[in-house]
Amino acid sequence: MSAITGKTNLVGLLGQPVNHSLSPVMHNAAYAEMGLDWCYLAIPCDKKNLEQIITTLRLIDCKGLNVTIPYKQEVLNSCNRLTNIANNIKAVNTLIPEENNQWIGANTDVEGFTMPLKDKNLSGKNIIVIGCGGSARAAVMGLNSLNVKKIIIIGRNEDTLNLFIRNMKGLSRENNVLIEGINGKKLNVTPYIEAADLIINTTPIGMKRETAEEENIPLGREIWENLSNKTILYDLIYTPRPTSWLKIGQQKNCVTIDGLDMLVEQGALSIKLWSGFNNIPTHIMKSSAKKHLMV
Ligand code: NAP
Repeated sequence: MSAITGKTNLVGLLGQPVNHSLSPVMHNAAYAEMGLDWCYLAIPCDKKNLEQIITTLRLIDCKGLNVTIPYKQEVLNSCNRLTNIANNIKAVNTLIPEENNQWIGANTDVEGFTMPLKDKNLSGKNIIVIGCGGSARAAVMGLNSLNVKKIIIIGRNEDTLNLFIRNMKGLSRENNVLIEGINGKKLNVTPYIEAADLIINTTPIGMKRETAEEENIPLGREIWENLSNKTILYDLIYTPRPTSWLKIGQQKNCVTIDGLDMLVEQGALSIKLWSGFNNIPTHIMKSSAKKHLMV
């Protein structure tokens, strides 16, 4: 990274906590490669100060912000307007400066999510999404654009699941994608797993290294015993790489995808929106993130 000078521009990430984020490493590596005199900082932020911090950062000419857990919905209130995708899923992970000290709210998670699936032919396929939180919204929205036949969402909380399905059905109407919800605590999900072409884990199960292996596998180990080697497993988690769940897939010779590509791609799309440049060095972003994960 070149020296920070009086001309260096500020960009950054708002969330709580942010100290484990890979984004500063990835972004600053990309800026150095692109010759952009920008510096990306992780900015921890309490909920009560969020709006004030966002307004102030715009006033000091911050060139762009990413937003992470737990504020992706909260920041909708601080945006002058939203891109279509951000409006559809009611979540913002990228703030773009606009005139009169305002921010535009965008969402690059959806495109970041779909990027690693672009070379898989998912037309007419059956998909399972485990979890129905924020990243599941981005996943379902992304899958809608890939011409899939059916998306089954497995949730654990009936109310959250029903609300999620209602919202997502509204979005999928145009594409004729069937969306169904299953309560994983009440119904035997094994037949659905065995018939799926692609299964996506959008829960944090698998992130905690100190947790017993059995509790670190979505839906428990037994469910995966008869997993077909034709099923693709996609875990949005990027550390550890691979998760215990993806290891099961690898042992069964399934194609597996971890969350690092999504992380890199959503970051690269944010840089595109802020800088107007089309060629973002994603390979540099990925290698710097990988190097950091190994430390
Ligand atoms: P979130 O909004 O909190 O949603 C998590 C979902 O998982 C909720 O449906 C939650 O159910 C469910 N869940 C949580 N713990 C569970 C458990 N023990 N058993 C069953 N279900 C459980 O979180 P998120 O923002 O979607 O993030 C989820 C994961 O995706 C995280 O690991 C995050 O790091 C990863 N992620 C990766 C990327 C990337 O770029 N690769 C981007 C975004 C997220 P309840 O509603 O019942 O609590």
